[in-house]
Amino acid sequence: MNSQKARVLAWLTQQNLCATTLLEQRIPRGAARILELRSDGWDITTRECTQHPHSTKQVEYVLHNSPGILWPDLAKDATPPIYTAT
Ligand SMILES: [Zn+2]
Repeated sequence: MNSQKARVLAWLTQQNLCATTLLEQRIPRGAARILELRSDGWDITTRECTQHPHSTKQVEYVLHNSPGILWPDLAKDATPPIYTAT
């Protein structure tokens, strides 16, 4: 798994991920990373962001529980991104 994909997955185990947050974390092709994770079998859905008051429509990604996966193992090296801009 490439490092950006691993980081995105680890973050998703801790919080829903706004596409803007991915941009701020210098992951400009976050949508591509999400597609890769989905093709790996992760259950990730896209919905309108519920975390921030965006002036334009923005999406967030939600990881759903996958049986047999220990999320702490995935998340152990991840620092959750902090949202700073509007
Ligand atoms: Zn947002």
